[in-house]
Amino acid sequence: MNKKIFIYKNNTEISCMIEKTLRKKLFKSGLRAFDTYDEDTELIICIGGDGTLLRLVQDYGFPKTPIVGINTGHLGFFQEILPEKIDDFIFLYNQGRYSIQGLTGVDCTIHTGSSHSEHTALNEITVKGMLTHPVHLNISINNSFIERFSGDGICVSTPAGSTAYNYALGGSIVDPRLSVLQVTPIAPIQNVAYRSLTSGILLPASDDLIIIPCSEDDSTLSITYDGMLAEYKDVREITLTLSEKKINLIRFDDYRFWEKVKSKFL
Ligand code: NAP
Ligand code: MN
Repeated sequence: MNKKIFIYKNNTEISCMIEKTLRKKLFKSGLRAFDTYDEDTELIICIGGDGTLLRLVQDYGFPKTPIVGINTGHLGFFQEILPEKIDDFIFLYNQGRYSIQGLTGVDCTIHTGSSHSEHTALNEITVKGMLTHPVHLNISINNSFIERFSGDGICVSTPAGSTAYNYALGGSIVDPRLSVLQVTPIAPIQNVAYRSLTSGILLPASDDLIIIPCSEDDSTLSITYDGMLAEYKDVREITLTLSEKKINLIRFDDYRFWEKVKSKFL
């Protein structure tokens, strides 16, 4: 029986070229590529960089189907296969010689005066003010008030996203086997008028981070989820927590998280 494979890609020249080669090679080995995704799809192949994988996850709402990435992008932290290793990938895939890396998302619920919206991100959710003004946000964990934050904003990242924006903000790299959220301040103001935590904090999966704008001036917020922007007016409360949604990335035997970190960052 032919196995159903869905190919998702960005539109760069190299990705289109790799797609053609991939389709031929899949066909030869009894695997069939389709242009649509449905519940019979047994594998998603994502051709591009990390950004392409993030968009796939958003477009298809955290599909449970295993995903494997072919890296034609710049960094390719999520992407497991180099374009020149497609034959090896097909051989190992057909033999079932791979493991699944589950990567959990972060959920965000935004209550405004008139609506309620939800986003789930694989890397991170950021909450920032508009334009050039710093934003003032009351931050609580569950029912405990922690601090009044003043600065550019807050980045809440998953372990998978810890190597993305979070890392540029001075956050820690987190092994994705840990079930934690990292809350990292973005340019916190430190003076006698405003004082907030300068380091990131880690939250366990059971806890909620609650953000409440300090005043009406702080209630227009720009929220990004995996780099995608949404603007909200009259925000009353934002809740962030580790999601129940996760994706299943295919990794081959030689995958080691810290080797990947080393090869991409050092
Ligand atoms: P982009 O401008 O291409 O992303 C910036 C870089 O982050 C790219 O090199 C991308 O890899 C890499 N990246 C994405 N997710 C990663 C991960 N989980 N671990 C390690 N590196 C990762 O834009 P994009 O591709 O659409 O990515 C969106 C992401 O950009 C956001 O989720 C956010 O994390 C990140 N971002 C970073 C900064 C910053 O570092 N100052 C600011 C804003 C947003 P590829 O080259 O393979 O795409
Ligand atoms: Mn990118």
